[in-house]
Amino acid sequence: MQTDRSRKQVPQVPESEEMSSSTSPEPEPSSPQREKQHHQEDRIPRTMNNYKKLITFSDNNLLFDHVLKCYSAIEEGFSIYAPMPSFLNPHLMEQDNQYSFGAIEIKSGENQLLDVKYRRSATTHTERVSCTNIDETLQRCRTEVKNMYMFTLYSPCLMRGHKIDKKDKDKEPCMLHLLEKAYQWYSEFGIKTRVFFKKPWGLSGPDIFKGLLYSDVSRTSSAFHPYVDLCKEHRFKLDNKFRQDNKAIFRLIGKVNRKETLKKRIKSTLRKLQEKAKEGLKKCQHLKRGLRYIDSLKFPKKVHKQIIKTFKNNWKTLVNHSSMSLIIEKITSDFNNAEVKLFVRDLRLDLGDSGYFQINQVPPGAEVEEGDYVQVMNTSF
Ligand SMILES: [Zn+2]
Repeated sequence: MQTDRSRKQVPQVPESEEMSSSTSPEPEPSSPQREKQHHQEDRIPRTMNNYKKLITFSDNNLLFDHVLKCYSAIEEGFSIYAPMPSFLNPHLMEQDNQYSFGAIEIKSGENQLLDVKYRRSATTHTERVSCTNIDETLQRCRTEVKNMYMFTLYSPCLMRGHKIDKKDKDKEPCMLHLLEKAYQWYSEFGIKTRVFFKKPWGLSGPDIFKGLLYSDVSRTSSAFHPYVDLCKEHRFKLDNKFRQDNKAIFRLIGKVNRKETLKKRIKSTLRKLQEKAKEGLKKCQHLKRGLRYIDSLKFPKKVHKQIIKTFKNNWKTLVNHSSMSLIIEKITSDFNNAEVKLFVRDLRLDLGDSGYFQINQVPPGAEVEEGDYVQVMNTSF
């Protein structure tokens, strides 16, 4: 199995040569037998088998547990990182909005970058647009092309979810679409495809666990439970938009004689607690600060205990709820990293280290490989 590709040690080896030195069980481009087998299941059985298992989970807790368990069994030292050829550099941008572009290596040794495709709306899946761009290019100069490249900021999606362009009847996720296209380009033209991405997207990107509640992660039986205290050293502000249930407190007003006075006191306490929520503090500091303030309050004897108890419970709920954005961020990052790595691992086991489709993550901080300078033609086809 391939680990980090130490391509810096052999910069003189052209990408195309390395890609074509295949030892994988992939079909010959012109094999008529393989031509008939147009199913991903035949070409990448392990990948598709594991992928199909994955998309059957309807419970996020079980899905997370499954992926993290599979991830922990990945062979030590396995890496999906690989430096990117420097000729892709001119189109790279510092932004979080999804974009992708294709590039072709021509037999004469030149490289040509195709147009950058930007995410225009939630339904735009730029990899599919870049595939169309590549298809159009191949129609014009198929005999000239040696290898195909694509850079995509986020790894191609593994599940398209509900946001599907109505005009686009093909609901296939971009990763499978790309695999299908790569096979097509390989079987028709003998061209191999190499994809680079910077950030793992996973199944559904950053929103996959956005609905998680504190009660979901705080259960000791939950797969998310180890994350409860993970963020305790981080500072965060409390969510002022969180709707607290203060009805129980206001209902107590009816039990006292000086109703208006108590109402004003309660409102003023809520305002002061809101002020305290604005500061960025660690979780234990938020709790200590709010609870200490609530303990200092005095209310009519008849309702004091109940009001204090409710204010305290509400404050704890607010602090726990507000810590969730950090927890969700960490859970999502771990999940997406694990999921993409598992998928790429399966692909490598199915296709070999230099199959017709290769996908790598650009290592953070070292985006392009050195010493691989080639002529870039800026004109698009
Ligand atoms: Zn997609």
